[in-house]
Amino acid sequence: MKIPIPEQSLVLLIGPSGSGKSTVANAHFLPEDVLSGTGNEAKLHDEVARRLKQGTLTVIDGVPLSAESRRHYVTVARDHHVALVAVAMDTPEALCLERNRARTGSHPSPRALRNQVQQLQNALKGLTKEGIRHVHVLTPETVDAVSFEHRP
Ligand code: ATP
Repeated sequence: MKIPIPEQSLVLLIGPSGSGKSTVANAHFLPEDVLSGTGNEAKLHDEVARRLKQGTLTVIDGVPLSAESRRHYVTVARDHHVALVAVAMDTPEALCLERNRARTGSHPSPRALRNQVQQLQNALKGLTKEGIRHVHVLTPETVDAVSFEHRP
């Protein structure tokens, strides 16, 4: 699967914990292009706006799974005339759970993970309607063969 990435893009990596967002970010984007979607939201929004104003490719690893969180990025991408690309990690709950169990550090409880997986499923139905024009869904079967084609 080839995913076109216009030079002036805001890329949203969306998916539950353990779905493989950071793995995709590390494999396909430069570290300086990737911002973590968790943490101080006001600071992140400022940083994203600053980068988009300069036309700098920006990838957000782990956009919170609510439609409300995405709404901000729909607006900011539109305001700065950059392409908005969503990459949704449709990884089964059991696999996310298994991966998280094998990791060190803190991860969501099984119940919280189930909720995240459900939120992702809801998001999959709504991303296009929310105004995100470029929506790509990756699964464990497709993720290893994906390539991101950076375009001028
Ligand atoms: P979080 O939101 O909790 O940060 P994440 O969605 O960013 O999670 P990753 O950190 O990319 O998920 O991956 C979680 C674990 O699963 C890691 O240990 C990683 O090595 C493993 N993993 C991710 N993608 C794959 C893959 N395609 N094949 C095998 N293992 C994978």
